Amino acid sequence: MNQDLRALLSDLAGFLEQQQQTGGTFYLDEGVPGALTAAAPEAEVAPEAPVAEPATVPAAEQPKPAPPARDAAVEPAPAPAPRPAPIAADDPFARECAVFVRDALTVIARTRQHAVPAAPTPAEAGLFDGPQDAPPPVAEVLPQPEALEALAAEVKTCTACGLHAGRQQAVPGAGNADATLMLVGEAPGQAEDQQGLPFVGPSGKLLTDILKAIGFSRDEVFIGNVLKCRPPNNRDPQPDEVTACKAYLRRQIKIIQPRMILCLGRIAAHTLLDTTASLRSLRESVHFFAGVPVMATYHPAALLRNPAQKRDTWDDVRKLRALHDALCTTDAD
Ligand code: URA
Repeated sequence: MNQDLRALLSDLAGFLEQQQQTGGTFYLDEGVPGALTAAAPEAEVAPEAPVAEPATVPAAEQPKPAPPARDAAVEPAPAPAPRPAPIAADDPFARECAVFVRDALTVIARTRQHAVPAAPTPAEAGLFDGPQDAPPPVAEVLPQPEALEALAAEVKTCTACGLHAGRQQAVPGAGNADATLMLVGEAPGQAEDQQGLPFVGPSGKLLTDILKAIGFSRDEVFIGNVLKCRPPNNRDPQPDEVTACKAYLRRQIKIIQPRMILCLGRIAAHTLLDTTASLRSLRESVHFFAGVPVMATYHPAALLRNPAQKRDTWDDVRKLRALHDALCTTDAD
């Protein structure tokens, strides 16, 4: 082996080792165990990264108050996943991530300052329409877990579009009713249709690994979909199906009031953001739905088909984690 090749292999081995240490194994090979259990860091982004002071968010504009301390005797908090190792200060991504968070916080603060609550965006207006929206549901006045359960009961007997005829089970969504992070996918697949739970098939396993890589357990977050019933042969949702189903998603967001939403794939991003922009461009910045900051990344099923996109997804979700933590800290102040 010549010297250049030896040096190249040595560099590659070092890179892979660093990725394992920083929790990025899902993008190398989902299912590689053992690399995501590093001790909890103080901060996601190394403090050395030069970042301007984040913009402060006026208290009056905060969409969700800091969660009250949970009463462990009444409702045990979901166990948090082990936090990944911090991004090394000399990793160029630390700076890119810090700049993303700084810019996003500035946009979020501005948006909240100028928010006009009475005037929803076209996407929000669309999600506010629909047969499931009238009359104002009793469910929404209940405490969060009961409200979500009541909504799930409605979903399970829904016949608002043709998909109900072919379903084994509707899939309302699952997770923490008080989640600070909500993930929105496209629609149930075969495994989800059989089990009545979101993301339990092959793409769900990858999603679990992605969440674990950024220190979230599935129990901490809420996972939902644009459609609650499986389209035949996993085809794309049709516009009438999205129209019939989207009020459920809007109501879930209203009940949970997450601090951030992550759209998994094009369909979720286009539905929530009322755009046809490319997923590639939507990944670059923070967006809003009903005042909640929204990010977008590739769908896990797309990553299974095209593993090269895992690299970009890893960057997206590390930015998501950093922005989520910054928002939780800012909103709790
Ligand atoms: N794909 C999705 O978009 N949602 C699921 O629940 C499963 C697969």
